[in-house]
Amino acid sequence: MDGIIQGLSNFRGTIFPGQQQMYQQLVRDGQQPQALIIACADSRVSPEHITQSGPGDLFVCRNAGNIVPPFSQQNGGVSSAIEYAVVALGVRDIVICGHSDCGAMKGLMNPEALGNMPNVAAWLRHSHAANRIVCEAYPEGMDPKERHRALALENVVVQINNLRTHPSVAAALARGGLRLHGWFFEIESGQVLAYCGDRGCFVPIDEATDVPVAQAPAARIATPEFAGLHAVAAE
Ligand SMILES: [Zn+2]
Repeated sequence: MDGIIQGLSNFRGTIFPGQQQMYQQLVRDGQQPQALIIACADSRVSPEHITQSGPGDLFVCRNAGNIVPPFSQQNGGVSSAIEYAVVALGVRDIVICGHSDCGAMKGLMNPEALGNMPNVAAWLRHSHAANRIVCEAYPEGMDPKERHRALALENVVVQINNLRTHPSVAAALARGGLRLHGWFFEIESGQVLAYCGDRGCFVPIDEATDVPVAQAPAARIATPEFAGLHAVAAE
């Protein structure tokens, strides 16, 4: 812990004095983060660092495998973070950020290694769909490294699908007020790939083009006649 304590001391003594005004303004005005990022808890994957963001910029939720459990009646930390970000903070973008060399994905590929980690094994059930996709829809005999990478990418797409099951997300998408993004951070190259929903593939994020979107807002309701029906019913 020595390095961590030294870091705290450095922050308090050297960094904070130059940023005090900014921190005080963030308390005075409240936070208005640009996006919710759901990333892996892996120590090498820091959303703030790879986006060069500062305090107040990102609402971050991290867990093993950047997983979003599908909405259920059971309360959970990820569900609460999503609901708070969308409803209370009004974020207009949610990013699921997976990464290379992910230990959670390795556990998914080798469940026998999770024998003494029953909670991790249970948590990774939310990624089983990604594992089945890779097992059944990808070529047999893939190189294990390729398979691991494919699993991490498919897991991002599965978690985006899970996001849509959350009422706050579904409603914001239908209102046209939310975009969903799927990212994959390659630790070894520093590159971030983004899932293009309309093309069904991951592409490098290029500053010269629009940010790829996994799902764009789709301002729509399923029953456009509802307003008319409602008016008739109210008469
Ligand atoms: Zn990971």
